[in-house]
Amino acid sequence: MAQNVAKIRNIGITAHIDAGKTTLSERILYYTKKIHKIGEVDEGSATMDYMPQEQERGITITSAATMFLWKGYEIHLIDTPGHVDFTIEVERSLRVLDGVVAVLCAVGGVQPQTETVWHQAERYKVPRIVFVNKLDRIGADFNRAISMMRERLGANPVPVQIPMFRGDEFLGVIDLIRMKSIVWDQSTLGDEFSFDDIPDEFLEEALAARKTMLESAAEMDEELLEHYLENEDLDEKQIIRGLRIGTLSNRLVPTLCGSALKNQGVQPVIDAVIDFLPSPADVPPVSGVNPTTGEVEFRAPKAKEPLCAFVFKVMMDQGRKATYVRVYSGELEAEKEVYNATRGSKERVARLFLTHANKREKITAAFPGTIVLAVGLKDARTGDTLTSPSAPLVLESLDMHIPVISIA
Ligand code: GDP
Repeated sequence: MAQNVAKIRNIGITAHIDAGKTTLSERILYYTKKIHKIGEVDEGSATMDYMPQEQERGITITSAATMFLWKGYEIHLIDTPGHVDFTIEVERSLRVLDGVVAVLCAVGGVQPQTETVWHQAERYKVPRIVFVNKLDRIGADFNRAISMMRERLGANPVPVQIPMFRGDEFLGVIDLIRMKSIVWDQSTLGDEFSFDDIPDEFLEEALAARKTMLESAAEMDEELLEHYLENEDLDEKQIIRGLRIGTLSNRLVPTLCGSALKNQGVQPVIDAVIDFLPSPADVPPVSGVNPTTGEVEFRAPKAKEPLCAFVFKVMMDQGRKATYVRVYSGELEAEKEVYNATRGSKERVARLFLTHANKREKITAAFPGTIVLAVGLKDARTGDTLTSPSAPLVLESLDMHIPVISIA
């Protein structure tokens, strides 16, 4: 489990119903090898504690959070309710995640639920990237989806990929950052793909789109802008840096495309989560009220700070109470007492787990930035703050996410 906060991402995937949120989530878990074959449950080791209902349901994610590893990063995928009626639940999940992947359908573009959740994320300044899905469908139109993002969401989308079409046929995408085409091998369901030179017929369009992307990235930072004006180019690292600054400050939205169903463009989405979305270290310390003094205090995402954790979901699971918690500061330890600052009572955490797609991994302690499942808490309810007994704090119900730009 990562203890380096910079290597953690807490994200949610949002979409209008049917745009492909489930398909994308499943493919992501497939690629990160949490599941070996789509639709099949992992044959785990004896140390894993299975959830029978989930096994029956295949890989549908019913946990409030699922963790997976990718290129040395620990990514927590937090479930965001699909129905707009649960606005409070959406807002609560926005409270514990640091970034959002919004999925659009390339045919429908921006749809009513896309707008609702987008504006909620906007309100809490949660940085977003977009995946324009279903490019394999007849009527798919990437450029129209981009215009709709501008007009209906008031967003500043910056394509970091463009699709390649021959007639109606979707061939693959062009990665504008590395100036390579990515074409998937259909016979392996997209498991294999190759980075190639860009075919001549798409070169002009790709160069124009890259120029727009470079200008957007350069504008986000003075040093980059100076470099760009002098050299008329930026390297891969510089582009990612500029786009990351823009995403974290909610000034632009890196936009990718593909087809989740055909496994085209899924891995680049996971890379983009790492490249552009914030780590818990990029968001400012959380604030709350010390119930003893009535003073506002802050907690930074550091293990050395006193414990401060937020309960964002309580579920019944096999007759036991399963409490999903985000740790903001300090360490949450198994077999230890915590202070429920909201209720003014002491409680004991019996066991702690990281939840994967179909299994749980027992852990002894959870560090800042992580999302864990705690068993044994009797009184804790959704919205409560758990702290160290010596440093009580009640988190304000919803903090504004205003990311700090601190990129090495
Ligand atoms: P959700 O409601 O957003 O979770 O959407 P789902 O992932 O359940 O997808 C809705 C439907 O769209 C399903 O029938 C999927 O198979 C289909 N679908 C998802 N992604 C794609 C895609 O990239 N291309 C096509 N053609 N169909 C897709």
